[in-house]
Amino acid sequence: MSEIKRFKEVIQMSGIYMDADVLVIGGGMAGMRAAIEANSLGAKVVMAFKGKLGKTGAGICAYHGAGVGPWSTPKDSKELHLKDVIRCGGYLADQELCKIMIDEVPDRLVELEKYGLFWERKNDGGIDAYLGSGHSEPRTISTYRRQAGLSIHQALKAEITHRQIMAIEDTMVTNLILQNDSVVGATALHYTNGEFMIFRAKSVIICTGSHSQVFPSCTTPPDCTGDGVAMGYHAGAELINMEQALYVFGLSHPHTWRGILVPTLFKVGGDILHLLNKKGERYMQRYDPEHLEMATKDVHALSAYKEIQRGMGGGEKGDTLYADLRHLPFKEMREKLGDLVSCMEEMELDIRKDLIEITPTAHETLGGIRINSRCESTVPGLFAAGSAIGAIYGNDGIPGRGTGHALVFGKRAGEYAWKRAADVAAPSLENSAVEREHQRVHELLDRGNGISPNQLMKKLQQLMEQSFWVAKNEAHLRRALEEILKLRKEEVPRVSLSSRTKRFNLEWVNALEVEKMFDVAEMMIRSAIPRKESRTTFLREDYPEEDNVNWLKNIIVQKKNGEMHISAVPVNLIYVHPEE
Ligand SMILES: Cc1cc2nc3c(=O)[nH]c(=O)nc-3n(C[C@H](O)[C@H](O)[C@H](O)COP(=O)(O)OP(=O)(O)OC[C@H]3O[C@@H](n4cnc5c(N)ncnc54)[C@H](O)[C@@H]3O)c2cc1C
Repeated sequence: MSEIKRFKEVIQMSGIYMDADVLVIGGGMAGMRAAIEANSLGAKVVMAFKGKLGKTGAGICAYHGAGVGPWSTPKDSKELHLKDVIRCGGYLADQELCKIMIDEVPDRLVELEKYGLFWERKNDGGIDAYLGSGHSEPRTISTYRRQAGLSIHQALKAEITHRQIMAIEDTMVTNLILQNDSVVGATALHYTNGEFMIFRAKSVIICTGSHSQVFPSCTTPPDCTGDGVAMGYHAGAELINMEQALYVFGLSHPHTWRGILVPTLFKVGGDILHLLNKKGERYMQRYDPEHLEMATKDVHALSAYKEIQRGMGGGEKGDTLYADLRHLPFKEMREKLGDLVSCMEEMELDIRKDLIEITPTAHETLGGIRINSRCESTVPGLFAAGSAIGAIYGNDGIPGRGTGHALVFGKRAGEYAWKRAADVAAPSLENSAVEREHQRVHELLDRGNGISPNQLMKKLQQLMEQSFWVAKNEAHLRRALEEILKLRKEEVPRVSLSSRTKRFNLEWVNALEVEKMFDVAEMMIRSAIPRKESRTTFLREDYPEEDNVNWLKNIIVQKKNGEMHISAVPVNLIYVHPEE
């Protein structure tokens, strides 16, 4: 059958068909940076993402970036930055990738000013860098009111618009299309108009962010359901560090505001916020008297966990701790932490008098698609960048690494995806694969009475909260795995929607997402079971010690013969060693 006839059939069946050199899935920081790079090299780029351009993804919430740039002290160096990031990541980073990130991030941060962003400056005009937890030197930078993420999104959006890059909003990519074991495109649901879409592309970049929505309360937006990681898995890509996740503090009250991040590390007027238990004690004096509230995220998560275990948490469930900002200068706080202050005002809370109720909350997940320095996954044609990739900095989040990996590997992914696209012929699309996906997506609209996607999501999230919270143990993990497999078998096929409408049916989107969340949750649990040790943010109650003899390893997940296969590979300690 001729190529043209084949495509005509595909178009008739679907509605919308698009051709690209490079398809970017995801419209956050990594996706936008990848699209700009590929476009600047001459590629025909199509971006498809959930939500609206410049307003989608976790990046918009970021407070700051970090790097050794023109703003750094004479004592600072890229070698020191690398050591800090690898140490904070429990030595589980891919050191080659980590070094690339640290070498290139200053340029990625500086070039944002070309796109219209303005880093906050001191009186002498130099960029104002401050000390972030885990960093040896002040190298963390932000924009006015600590809204770096928002400013970066606005700058990248302006560049995308200026370049007239095709950005398809309100679109959930549902699957990758494979041909002879290479990725050659993707299918999608444009949910505002209910159209099924087909993309043919020479290279596909997954920039779909983290998968923290597997937890009931998390800081990331609802679109972070791990779709790209699950699609990569089904395409045969290796995934890495899926057992790793970060926990921070979020609001615990009111319930509907759970998940809003309460940052702990900002100095305001030379002082920091205090964390208190229900007795009003500044409990970090017990756990990290040197750094107190400037401790790293893993120390905070562990300290909060221990304090709550000791019965020192307040609130109905005994899991509430308190952020005390009463001693901090209010005017400066408005300038530095405007978002938090406005948020508290909305809650009718006066932070000059009242404490903020907080609780440990899931932050970004740290595992994802395994890439090399060209951002290639282990499947030809499939690239990845941003939070959908794993192992860049190991298993803890030193401030600024999230924007770092999104910008650095976003740019690289765009570059290498274009290089591949320039080398290969336009692929042919197998109708049967597209038809199967069309049927799978639409079959959801015809199901009878069953369970709603939201109900099923909640069940999964509860299991993850019970088994995959700050502290884990084998019995809970195994029980959760059994339950997840049972739910997948019995309930996932019963997911049904309350409305059959195709236009703006977000329940339909949720139904497609929940299947992917099951994939991701299973990978996380299966990867956590064999890691019989505790390391920075990964805490096993049954194996409380760090084990450098047996566990300086990354856990790999891959689909083989339809089964989830788990293995472990030694970390490449090429630059920094735990003994140093
Ligand atoms: C509350 C919060 C605060 C943070 N603070 C900082 C900070 O101060 N400093 C720092 O460096 N990092 C911070 N981070 C981390 C940083 O924001 C992320 O690492 C970074 O934004 C990752 O960018 P990304 O493009 O990979 O993912 P995201 O920005 O999450 O973008 C993912 C994109 O993929 C889309 N998508 C998902 N699934 C699909 C699908 N199936 N089809 C189509 N599109 C899809 C989403 O809609 C979105 O557009 C923070 C994160 C959070 C949540």
